[in-house]
Amino acid sequence: MQDNRRSAEKDLPIAKDDLIVITGAGGFIGGNLASYFRNRGFTRIRAVDKKPLYEWYLHVPGAENLCLDVSLEVNCHRVCEGAVEVYNLAADMGGMGFIERFRIECLRSILINTHMVEAAYRAGAQRYFFSSSACAYNTDLQQDPDVRALKESDAYPAMAERGYGWEKLMSEMFCQEYWAERGMKTFIARFHNVYGPHGTWDGGREKAPAALCRKVIEAQDAGSNDITLWGDGTRTRSFMYIDDCVKGIDRITHCDELIATPINLGSSELVSINDLLTKVEKAAGLNTKLNRHYDLDAPKGVAGRNSDNTFIKQVLGWEPTTSLDDGLAVTYRWISEQYHRRKAGERVGVG
Ligand code: NAD
Repeated sequence: MQDNRRSAEKDLPIAKDDLIVITGAGGFIGGNLASYFRNRGFTRIRAVDKKPLYEWYLHVPGAENLCLDVSLEVNCHRVCEGAVEVYNLAADMGGMGFIERFRIECLRSILINTHMVEAAYRAGAQRYFFSSSACAYNTDLQQDPDVRALKESDAYPAMAERGYGWEKLMSEMFCQEYWAERGMKTFIARFHNVYGPHGTWDGGREKAPAALCRKVIEAQDAGSNDITLWGDGTRTRSFMYIDDCVKGIDRITHCDELIATPINLGSSELVSINDLLTKVEKAAGLNTKLNRHYDLDAPKGVAGRNSDNTFIKQVLGWEPTTSLDDGLAVTYRWISEQYHRRKAGERVGVG
């Protein structure tokens, strides 16, 4: 890892009427983050996404909503104008089905962070947050379902996930150099699989928890006892509930010890995909298990991945705590409601 040392001058704590910019705010984490800051009393939130407004999952009352493509430099300057803090959550991304198939789209997200970090710097923003991913970690270390949890230093020597992971690693590096060379305080969290309400649940970009919730709902709706899983069900992952994710983003971005220092933001509760389905069946209140079929040709990703939370506990005295059972109960209810509303002819965001 490179040396990021530089002394951090104390800046004024953010005031409730300082301008907070959030990109990707029409999506899952950005939308929930805008809502989180709003609920904490921040009055000036600029929410930005390239999707048309009617496709945004959340509309935060009082926010300034901009439909702009932030892979274009000119738009980034408009977006960052007057910003005190910038949270860059925009990326062309999805679950394994998307990132294994559309590597070029994933790589092109480099344009987003490249222009956003420069625009934030030129606008004089005090803090800049970048949403990185556990996909930045060396894939050689993730070949066994019984995996050792990944610690921050495991990103190097680098062998990131093709496409998506390399983009994250390069963008992290941009953030680190904007601190080292130019003194802008940047913060980098490596998220491990986030799930929860107001996220993608259909359409090809959804991740495993949302996909399994939807498949169980579809099976019930069709009166079927069958379900098809991608892979053989033995791959392992940890999943972080959205409330923990937004809380973590806030804590990380306001901790000067973490300037330009990538940190895991994830749950350390490791489960197999088979276990995950069992938990979704429980959330659905099913009395009998569905008959499981395995699609061995479907995209599956690395064999195992978990978050080592030693560093976050040491620096923040905190780690994500919502249990998968609790988080899935809420998520399942939300997806079920969306599913039935869509079936009734309403327009709902899916991804
Ligand atoms: P999401 O797809 O729900 O949200 C991303 C949003 O960015 C979308 O609404 C999309 O329209 C928008 N966007 C894409 N390109 C844009 C552009 N050029 N200009 C403006 N908006 C654009 O995804 P998410 O789950 O909310 O992820 C947010 C961030 O967190 C991303 O950077 C993602 O890579 C990262 N991340 C997410 C997870 C996860 O499990 N959800 C895990 C690791 C990292």
